[in-house]
Amino acid sequence: MWETKRIIRWTLLIVGVLAILTLTATNVYTLYNLRDSLIQGEQKKQIALLEEVVLNVRRSIYQPYSGFNSLELEPIEGSIQDEGQFPDQVREKIKEVAKSPIFSGIYYTPADTDPCVNGSTIYALNYESFYLEPTTNYPQNLCDGVGLVRTKARIELNNFDYRWNTNTEFDAHRSMNIGFINLHENSVIGYLTATIDREYLIDQVIAPQIQQYFDSSKTSSVVWLHDWANNVVLATNNDSVPFQIDQVEERVDFGRMFENWNMKIAFLNNASVGLYQATFTKNMLVLGFSVLLLLGALFYIFYTAQKERSVLQQQADFLANVTHELKTPLAVMQAAGENIADGRVTQPKRIKEYGSHIYQESIRLNKMIEMLLDVARSDYGTTLIHATPQDLDTLVPEVIESQRSVINRKGHRLQYFGTNKPAMVLVDPEHVKVMLTNLIDNAVKYSPNPSEITIRVENKDHQCYVHCTDQGIGIPRAHIKHIFKKFYRVEDALSAKTKGHGLGLSIIKSLMELNQGHVKVKSEWAKGSTFTLCFPEYIADKYEKQLEQQMDERPSPSYLEPESMS
Ligand code: ADP
Repeated sequence: MWETKRIIRWTLLIVGVLAILTLTATNVYTLYNLRDSLIQGEQKKQIALLEEVVLNVRRSIYQPYSGFNSLELEPIEGSIQDEGQFPDQVREKIKEVAKSPIFSGIYYTPADTDPCVNGSTIYALNYESFYLEPTTNYPQNLCDGVGLVRTKARIELNNFDYRWNTNTEFDAHRSMNIGFINLHENSVIGYLTATIDREYLIDQVIAPQIQQYFDSSKTSSVVWLHDWANNVVLATNNDSVPFQIDQVEERVDFGRMFENWNMKIAFLNNASVGLYQATFTKNMLVLGFSVLLLLGALFYIFYTAQKERSVLQQQADFLANVTHELKTPLAVMQAAGENIADGRVTQPKRIKEYGSHIYQESIRLNKMIEMLLDVARSDYGTTLIHATPQDLDTLVPEVIESQRSVINRKGHRLQYFGTNKPAMVLVDPEHVKVMLTNLIDNAVKYSPNPSEITIRVENKDHQCYVHCTDQGIGIPRAHIKHIFKKFYRVEDALSAKTKGHGLGLSIIKSLMELNQGHVKVKSEWAKGSTFTLCFPEYIADKYEKQLEQQMDERPSPSYLEPESMS
């Protein structure tokens, strides 16, 4: 029955602990995931903003060209050849492009003209009249821009690809070039080049966009417009953070536009990441604390259940032990008394002997009963104390004298060392007697071979001590903290041979507390033990003052004065 209950209790404990640990592990895992996904979500948001910036820049380039694709291009060829101008509908569109401050100039190169040949005549847009005017003075990079479209168009035309009637190519960030295609003849009519104002594009378009979306006072993401071909930062939202490639978390390109440039972003430990981290730490702490509390409660319940069981077991053992102990002297007394009463023993010497047996056993019985009563009194808190000032240097030798015969009978020697000044304490002398008797009793019991027992009274720093030292079996370290508990006995071969109930020290402990002192022990296995009773020194004046103070602090009986008397 006991065994089954024990197995159930242990199984429940293990299952409980496992359940708590599994729950904790799942929670920790979820918390980690939550933190990571929150941080990732925050970073994704920043990347989306960066993409938005790039889209805005692309839009500001393309916007003036909207509707360009649906223009009727066929008349261009004739108009240019006949009148040297674009047809009106094309002129209107080009006017809009010219209005965009991103472009610094607009040029038209007929298909049969090569701008790479110095002195070639092409057309430049007059920004006042919006008419094309022939010129030989044009930017050098026109050669590259037109060349790009021409090459691309040639490849596409050879493959008979009629998908488009214009083809747009960017010469890096320098120009935007549109090739006009004659779909019927599968040939190029000419090239429209808009040169890009680089400073304006960077300072007035991209930089403000970056600042608007990534205000450095609100975010700790750092954004760079990076010219990777030349490894130069062209714009950033935070000048104080130097560009470091290993910090870059994400890059966003401008598509076919500005192929030498891209936008890069780095996430420094920003406030929200810090916040997520702090929330995470807080959650972990709360979780850890709750788990500890839960485990603590579980172990406490388990421990107290075990404890209760062992107390019950000890009490059962104690009862059996006591009954046995009580029966032994009673049996001796009964047998001796019977022999005398029956008249079987008649010789005076024998009668005296039997009488002595009865007397000794009755003393033993009395001692046992006294001890049980002491335990019961201390259990119910009804131990009475009659404290009087006592000099330990006088009291202790008196007790020793009463015990000397017991000590000597076992072959031990007892030495007493007194103090050179009185060791005055306020105690119940009967209690000191009980405690010292118990200590001497133990010193004798747990010293199997005749050896020396020393008792020393000391008065030091207003504390008075009674040290009782033996050279007996000592107490194993692991047991020391338990020996003052009721019914506790060290369970080893040597102690097992000695009779006892595990009550003596628990009585000493409660009596010491009652007498305002405490008991200490120092012991080494197989070498011996020293038990020390520590009392505060009794100083008459101080005591009187304390008493007076206590009396003053006591609330004085209050009464109401009849109002009529005032
Ligand atoms: P009891 O001696 O009746 O068993 P106590 O309460 O007096 O009970 O002591 C509790 C336990 O402490 C003892 O069982 C013994 O194991 C240990 N003990 C007490 N005094 C000594 C001592 N002087 N030397 C060694 N062990 C001791």
